[in-house]
Amino acid sequence: MTQARGQCEDCGPEPITAHQTLDLLALPAFDDNYIWLLRDPAGRALIVDPGDATPVLAELSDGPSPHAILITHHHDDHIGGLPALLARWPDVPVHAPQDPRIAHATHRVADGDRLAVGPWQFDVIGVPGHTRSHVAYHGEGLLFCGDTLFSLGCGRLFEGTAPQMHASLSRLAALAADTRVCCAHEYTASNAAFALSVDPHNTALRTRVQHVRALRGNGQPSLPSHLGEELACNPFLRCEAAAVHAAAERHAGQPLADATAVFATLRAWKDAFRA
Ligand code: FE
Ligand code: ZN
Repeated sequence: MTQARGQCEDCGPEPITAHQTLDLLALPAFDDNYIWLLRDPAGRALIVDPGDATPVLAELSDGPSPHAILITHHHDDHIGGLPALLARWPDVPVHAPQDPRIAHATHRVADGDRLAVGPWQFDVIGVPGHTRSHVAYHGEGLLFCGDTLFSLGCGRLFEGTAPQMHASLSRLAALAADTRVCCAHEYTASNAAFALSVDPHNTALRTRVQHVRALRGNGQPSLPSHLGEELACNPFLRCEAAAVHAAAERHAGQPLADATAVFATLRAWKDAFRA
């Protein structure tokens, strides 16, 4: 099974930080989902967005009951495993945003909440856009951002508006640059084609794309990425950059007044983009 341990694949040796004590795994599920697992030294896990119980039960079968399950949004590829996991561990707390489409939640979370989960603390960040009740969890140098921020891309606007999503991404972009970005899908290689057509002269992006292709060629996850890397490479976090603004204006065929208009143009452009 392909797993991402909690090391940086892009930057070589890292300075020694608390992050290195974390045992972080990306469990593949379905075609391109990752279910993130964080384990403490005793092996007790935190599970994020278990769309499918099978890989989680396989990974944790011998271990103690998990600390908690965190849910970012109501889509089935993020919550579908809850019934089977709760059948196995009936007392595990399930933290999820207030949304009647998410059954099985035991604790409802909202923007600004701080959660204590086992030995860890996470802040809840409301990030409407992909869905109206989507939240992200930030703590311990990690960001579990569901389908809001992807490496080199972002989630589609199923329920929110472009200004909402741009505001949500801007809040995530303001977190510490060394935050590890734990996205819920392995979309990086396909996002790369669009990113390169928006921002073809961005050398950081070209370097990241080469590395992603090598990782994927070896069957390894491209995640987690670092937020600083996304700030340098991801066009959806670079709406203020002159090159990205100019590319969006060329695509739109008209001047774009601000970063929100650039974001809206990029999102619509990508929705119709075929590599
Ligand atoms: Fe989704
Ligand atoms: Zn998803």
